[in-house]
Amino acid sequence: MSRAYIALGSNISSREGYLKQAIDALACHDLITIKKQSSIYETDPVGYEDQERFLNQVIELDTTYTALELLNICQMIENELGRKREVRWGPRTIDLDILLYNQENTMKDQLIIPHPRMHERAFVLVPLVELDPNLTIPTINKTVREQLSLIPNQEKRGVIKWIKRDGAEE
Ligand code: ADP
Ligand code: MG
Repeated sequence: MSRAYIALGSNISSREGYLKQAIDALACHDLITIKKQSSIYETDPVGYEDQERFLNQVIELDTTYTALELLNICQMIENELGRKREVRWGPRTIDLDILLYNQENTMKDQLIIPHPRMHERAFVLVPLVELDPNLTIPTINKTVREQLSLIPNQEKRGVIKWIKRDGAEE
């Protein structure tokens, strides 16, 4: 059995709906068990800033799929949920990134684990710390808590716990 962490992000309405649908789609595989889900955070876009704010979340799962099989499943779910690749880092219904897979260090054309940008992204580290602050990121040999403490406060302030408001347009 392997343990993996996946980051989810959406900035096209209904953002919460897309997060839920993606988690349900992962959970419906017999060989995947979702163990934990972080809170949902609302975050400022990074990389390409002229777009709507994101909802982000991280989940922990156990699986007997290989990392590559898991990536294929994530990409199928992205396609099913209508993800179009137009602008790099641009608006998306759902983005599923594999952050960690056990303590493996993988570098293939289509798959890099740990995710190469995870350690610089507050919107990944904040929810990940919620799931397990002592998890080690093997490439940099630091725990997620240690790594988050190195992120500037200004960036952390852009990651805010999101609470659904009744009736609010989401
Ligand atoms: P981004 O997540 O950076 O916005 P995409 O979701 O469009 O970009 O992913 C681009 C490519 O990144 C995918 O085709 C996938 O093969 C590759 N990739 C490499 N490593 C990973 C990973 N750990 N998780 C998800 N995709 C990855
Ligand atoms: Mg991605």
